[in-house]
Amino acid sequence: MSETKPRVITFDTCPNCGSRRRLADELAKDVKARGLMNKDLQSCSFLLKGIVQDMTTKAIIPIGVGVPAYIAYLDICMDCGTVYSFRIEIGEAKLAKPNKYPPTIHTS
Ligand SMILES: [Zn+2]
Repeated sequence: MSETKPRVITFDTCPNCGSRRRLADELAKDVKARGLMNKDLQSCSFLLKGIVQDMTTKAIIPIGVGVPAYIAYLDICMDCGTVYSFRIEIGEAKLAKPNKYPPTIHTS
């Protein structure tokens, strides 16, 4: 059995207009300036998490077996309103018990 190596894909600009201004990022600037948030954290408006698996009840993934998993960080462009993913983390989730959801990505 092979383990999926975690990887990160980033997109620095809006795919529609090329702007670097994102809603949650802009709003977080004030919070960071007030010392209420770690300056290194990236803010996002939405998180999408998922695993790649057969969702039918006939498909059973044994406990401890890894399946591909992802977390996508989405935000809204401040210049054109496009919702896009600026960071995608891809890794592997191991099921601790049947039908556990949401999964967690093991990065180490
Ligand atoms: Zn845009």
